[in-house]
Amino acid sequence: MNRPLRILLSNDDGFHAAGLQALYQAIKDKAEVTIVAPDRERSAVGHGITMHHPLRVEPVQLDGQTHWTVDGTPSDCVKLALEKVLRDRRPDLVISGINRGPNLGSDVLYSGTVSAAIEGHMYGIPSMAASVVDFGNADFSLAARFLVEHLEQLLELASHSLININFPTATSLNPKVRFTKLGRLNYINVFEERKDPRGRTYYWMGGEPEKLEQEADSDIRAVEEGDISITPLIIDLTNYQFLQSDYLKSFQWEK
Ligand code: MN
Repeated sequence: MNRPLRILLSNDDGFHAAGLQALYQAIKDKAEVTIVAPDRERSAVGHGITMHHPLRVEPVQLDGQTHWTVDGTPSDCVKLALEKVLRDRRPDLVISGINRGPNLGSDVLYSGTVSAAIEGHMYGIPSMAASVVDFGNADFSLAARFLVEHLEQLLELASHSLININFPTATSLNPKVRFTKLGRLNYINVFEERKDPRGRTYYWMGGEPEKLEQEADSDIRAVEEGDISITPLIIDLTNYQFLQSDYLKSFQWEK
């Protein structure tokens, strides 16, 4: 390819989030990067799309380049980018992140970060999601450096499969890269029950992950042990094993 690599950068923490901006700064001289991202935080919106009100797209100038905010979901952003904003400059790679907080196990189903990457993948473009496990004072420098230094290898991986990367806490020394499967994730104390000023009950969703036994090749174990986790994902939720089972083949509708 004798033109610069084209990257579409999006996320679910919003255009101005530190993780996206850290990656943009690290990667902007290595590729032609266009940001199309939500205008505010849209974490945990999953693969939601906006069909019942209009979407507004606003230009933002960064370093003399035009980027875009959208008042929609991460999936809206990638769809709009590929259908409209970048229609004549189809990206070679979609990166979603770097997200503040992990996207591990079954949380990938709720994740706006992963959904933006799924959207790119559905358009046939190599796509990846990247997250750091720290919520608080997340340090994105290790993750940003890794992504930039391994851009070629990651593009190659992402051209074979959608990938979901989770980086361990920034205090982790010399992390290894592990190819993993989704771990087991279950939340306890999901709802906190509170009273509003008029004495009516309301609920605030939060919860904490239950301590579950994790298999050694899971994404959760990898980041717990201070390593970088890369999980190849597929979006076909069909249960092929069950579909091909003798049980289903001989299933009786009439008893
Ligand atoms: Mn997020």
